[in-house]
Parts: sequence; structure tokens; C-alpha cells
Amino acid sequence: MLPAELAAEFAALGLPGYRARQVFRWLGRGVTGFDEMTDLPRALRETLDGAYDIPSLKMLRRQTSALDGTEKFLWELPDGESVETVLMRYKHGNSVCISSQVGCRMGCAFCASTIGGKIRDLTASEMLDEVLRTGIAAGAEISNIVLMGIGEPLDNFDNVMRFLTLVNDPEGANIGMRHISLSTCGLVEAIDKLAGLHLQLTLSVSLHAPDDETRSLLMPVNAAYGVDALYDACERYFRVTGRRISFEYAMVRGVNDTPRHARLLAQRLRGTGSHVNLIRLNYVPERGLEPSDEDTVRAFAKALGDAGVTATVRRRLGSDIDAACGQLRRGRMRKT
Ligand code: SAH
Repeated sequence: MLPAELAAEFAALGLPGYRARQVFRWLGRGVTGFDEMTDLPRALRETLDGAYDIPSLKMLRRQTSALDGTEKFLWELPDGESVETVLMRYKHGNSVCISSQVGCRMGCAFCASTIGGKIRDLTASEMLDEVLRTGIAAGAEISNIVLMGIGEPLDNFDNVMRFLTLVNDPEGANIGMRHISLSTCGLVEAIDKLAGLHLQLTLSVSLHAPDDETRSLLMPVNAAYGVDALYDACERYFRVTGRRISFEYAMVRGVNDTPRHARLLAQRLRGTGSHVNLIRLNYVPERGLEPSDEDTVRAFAKALGDAGVTATVRRRLGSDIDAACGQLRRGRMRKT
């Protein structure tokens, strides 16, 4: 519940507004039992305990990278489904990558999360719990959130916005919008809707190809919104919010990694101030697509740079623990 909803709920019980705020604060710290809310009178704790549940995610698996300390969690949801969260430790703070749906219906050709389709949306509180449980389990203070795990966040628009409100609340988890990134495969109407909310978060768009022909090979969503429509939406987003978009580009051997692709991409993005994040494709056995080799990635980045487009190659964390999208949940699905 949002603070105002909790206040209304408490008012209906004849309880003062400050009690609702106390409970909201405890929930924002990840407390899962009313008995732990020590600034509430014992009788009230018992009443609340009798009337409400505080559902929370159950840890199924935890893996820690021996290489870089990246941690990956597989959580069980109350209905038995599962999702993954990754904790990445950087010098500037700890970042969690959360899932927004159980599965995904976008069908990208390289992605493990979309195999088996979308089962359901995550609720706002399940997403919040991913952040809270991860911080508590790892004993880590969370300063950044990326919505880049399983699912398409803009395909679960209302719940994701609700989650952002909760996690951003100063009396809750208090994570600033500027410390939150949201990644989308490019749902044009939803990008416009998001722009209208004027949030200070960072929007990343999974582009993966500069032209319709190549993008359609990799991303079925391109049939609904072609590259031109997507670029236009990105431009509108920048105009409305003043926030530059960053583009993700997973390098797939022989598909989108040629000098011609670099040229086309540079033509599109030159002068827009957009940043390109080159990602080494994580090999997903079911998908059969291969990552580009290191030299090709470097040459591609250099070609973009020479053409005036800033590009960086994303650091790879947790490669020894299957820390990429959907790989852990997929492993569990294979076994069961
Ligand atoms: N649905 C959203 C967010 C989740 S995917 C989106 O499409 O942006 C997060 C990022 O990981 C996206 O850029 C996605 O294209 C990328 N990705 C998915 N599978 C990958 C793989 N096997 N290797 C590298 N990147 C991958």
C-alpha cells in the first residue's frame, strides 16, 4: 500500500495517521512480522497480526560470484512461481537488478527470460520485496536499482509506477529517481506515457540493431514499432523530460556486429548526445546465437566513437554464476 492507502486503512480501523506512518516505515525496512514493530503498543501489534499478512519472497537459491562478489538470488513468490534478482557491488555503491514479470512475452531471439512466455506480472510489493530482501540477505545497503531483470517493465506499467512510488518514498526505501534505471524493449506508447510523468529516472532502450531488417530478426516487438517510430519516441522522450536515453546493444556474432551496422547506428545517433552501451551477448543454449568476439566488439565501439557517438562496453559481472537475464529461473524450469 502507498502511504495514503495505508492511512485510509488505519483510519477505517479508528487508528491515528501516525500509526500508519510507523508501519509504513517498518515495511520499508523489510520487516516481515508485526511483532518486530517495537514502537507500536503490544495490543495493536496483535490486532494487526490477526488481521493482516505481510507476504514476502522466499529464497530458493543464492549464488555468489567468486570473481567479483556479484550475488544472484532466485526467489519463490507466494504462488510458487520464481524470479531472479542480482546484486552488483560497485565502488560507487550497491545496485540491484530486479525482475518486473514472471517470464516475458516479448520473444527476443537471444533472451532466456522469454522462453515459456509471460506467466504473470509482478505486483509493486513483490518488486519492492526484491530490493528489500536482497539488501537484507546480502547485508548490503542498496543505492541503485535497475529494472533490467526478467520481464518487460513497460508491459507492466501501472505496477511498475506504483513500485517506483513506494521505493522512492523518503519514509520507505528512499531510493532517489536519479538512482533508478528502467530498460525497455521499446514499447512506443508506453515510452510516451512515461515521458508524461516527468520522472528523473534513466531510460534505457534495448535497440540491438539500427535498421528494421536486422532488428526484426532479433526482436518481434519491431513488427509493432519499427526503428523509425522508436527513434521518434526517444526524441520525444528527451524533449519532454530533458533526460538523455541510453541505448543497449547486445553484440550477436554475424547478425548485428558488422561495420555496416556501426555506420547505420552512428548515422542515427550522431548529434543526439545518446550513449550506446555495448553488451557482450550471454550465450543461452536454447537460443543458438553466439556472442561477437572481443576484437569485433572493440572495433564496433571504435567505429561509433570515431563517428562521434559515445559507446562503452558493459563490464561483465557474475559470469561464473549465470547472472544474466533469466538463466537461473530457466535452469529451475529445466529441472522441474
Ligand atoms: N525487457 C526489458 C528489460 C529486461 S532485459 C528490455 O528489453 O530492455 C535487460 C537487457 O538484457 C535488455 O537490453 C536485453 O535485450 C538484454 N539481454 C537479454 N538477453 C540477453 C543475452 N542473452 N545477452 C545479453 N543481453 C541480453
